[in-house]
Amino acid sequence: MTAVANASSSSGASPRRVDVLIVGGGFGGMYAVYKFREMGLSLQAFEAGGDLGGVWYWNRYPGARVDLPSIDYSYSFSREIEQEWTWSEQYAAQPELLRYIDFVATRLDLRPHFQFNTRVENAVWSEDRQVWTLTTKAGEVWEAPYCIMATGPLSVPKKPEIDGLDRFHGQTYYAARWPHTPVDFTGKRVGVIGTGSTGIQIIQTVGREDCELFVFQRTPSFTMPMRNVPLEPEYMAEVKRHYAGIREVARNSPIGGARPQSTRAFFTVTPAQRLSLLEDSWKQGGLAMLGTFGDLMINEEANEHVANFVRGKIAEVVNDPDTAERLKPKGYPIFARRPCLDTEYYETFNRPNVHLMDCLTDPIIEATEKGIRTAAGETELDILILATGYDGLTGALMAFDVQGRDGRTVQEKWKDGPRSHLGIMLEGFPNLFMTTGPNGPAALANIIRMSENDVDWIAAAILHLREHGLGSIEPTRETEDKWMELVHTLARPSLINKAKTWWVGANVEGKPQGLTQFVGGFMKYREHCAAAAAGGYAGHRKEPLRRASQDLAA
Ligand code: NAP
Repeated sequence: MTAVANASSSSGASPRRVDVLIVGGGFGGMYAVYKFREMGLSLQAFEAGGDLGGVWYWNRYPGARVDLPSIDYSYSFSREIEQEWTWSEQYAAQPELLRYIDFVATRLDLRPHFQFNTRVENAVWSEDRQVWTLTTKAGEVWEAPYCIMATGPLSVPKKPEIDGLDRFHGQTYYAARWPHTPVDFTGKRVGVIGTGSTGIQIIQTVGREDCELFVFQRTPSFTMPMRNVPLEPEYMAEVKRHYAGIREVARNSPIGGARPQSTRAFFTVTPAQRLSLLEDSWKQGGLAMLGTFGDLMINEEANEHVANFVRGKIAEVVNDPDTAERLKPKGYPIFARRPCLDTEYYETFNRPNVHLMDCLTDPIIEATEKGIRTAAGETELDILILATGYDGLTGALMAFDVQGRDGRTVQEKWKDGPRSHLGIMLEGFPNLFMTTGPNGPAALANIIRMSENDVDWIAAAILHLREHGLGSIEPTRETEDKWMELVHTLARPSLINKAKTWWVGANVEGKPQGLTQFVGGFMKYREHCAAAAAGGYAGHRKEPLRRASQDLAA
């Protein structure tokens, strides 16, 4: 354990000293706190929200629910937690997810390590003292040799780029900052802007309420039936007996989850067989369809066949042919945007109180005092819900001042797009670690499997430093370049590049665009992580522990 340092910061406040500083109280930050505490390190963690949970703390909107199976979307590092916690539904709703997060936090006594309602404003590396100094918005200063940014890929809501939003006299709600008390929609005229995963969950839920719902849709999403079911006690008992095997399958799968995968190429089976496979996957629900053929993300023609199958389903469900046509996604490959899972989303548009406003043919001009104005006219509203997405992947780290070696900032380093090694470390930023960073599998794999992998990798790196009397570690420029070349080479043929989404930075004005995530699959990513640690972290610049920091740690 280190002692509190007596050095003072640039703000004049006396820094408090620990071994590890952690920013973020989502799944990554929670596991980091547990892991480093188990290693005997002293630590301090910060969370801008009022409690733990990350996206699940903030996203309390109606219908919020995870779209990965609960048994996959849960920690695997503790046998006790696996055995003591029982999921009630195949896809857990947000309140149950928060209960799980609370259960883990209480069971492991994590909360005392967090300062809540605390935003970190800057993080500065001191070259001679080999410490990161973090300053909070309240002006508190902390320092530690190691800093973990568990800030998450989806923590900064994007500005909706709609004029006049503050002019609107009704109630405005951001999905990603939903109030903690229920919102009453009864008898109200409600507008929803955004039809991504969030908007779809809100629309299918609020559409069933006694209100008039106006859905402002710009790009329609492909969504497939979730077919959520309760998890019976006998089944959960079975799962608990077999968790070890389930986790092993998940860790060795491309998405870090136990979901069927196929090596079958679309055109290797006859049209009748394809149709039967697609019908079967539609009936199974979830992401079964994505695992039906192995070449959907690289063969555009195969992809279009599957997209057409889903468009056909929309036409079957939606009664009004014009509405059905407008709900059909066109002009980009299926699965190139995050696939959504729904519960009777398309059926919602058969209800007389639900109105589709097509912003492709009639774009939003502005918000007014009374509602939303398009060229066709003004839609008066009492409530406006913004489900307009996030400044994803890079937004959180770019939102505050992070200065590495020679005062270089992350903003400067990432001005043409994010670059890092493994999405975990950045050349020029010694001892700064990210979980689920932008050049790893980031949005393409199970965030909890990834968080566990990344925290374990970071813990091993810190142990290596301490065992070898080293003061700092960072990837060399060559190592980072090689990783980025691999990331770009693998990403090039992917059809993900053909849609304008947060996955490629296209949803935020002025943001550098490109697919900078590792698309090679989670199991391959884990192999790269292991290879990077091999040979005493060859490919990394390591510096001996300096005298000044030895004094601090005495
Ligand atoms: P999103 O996928 O980025 O969708 C944002 C929506 O807002 C899009 O339909 C977008 O239209 C629309 N939009 C943005 N600005 C607009 C404007 N000025 N005018 C009109 N429309 C506008 O964001 P999201 O739905 O919040 O989902 C983000 C990610 O969160 C998902 O991909 C998923 O990874 C995660 N998520 C997961 C779950 C779950 O597990 N169940 C639930 C919700 C979210 P354009 O596409 O035309 O820009």
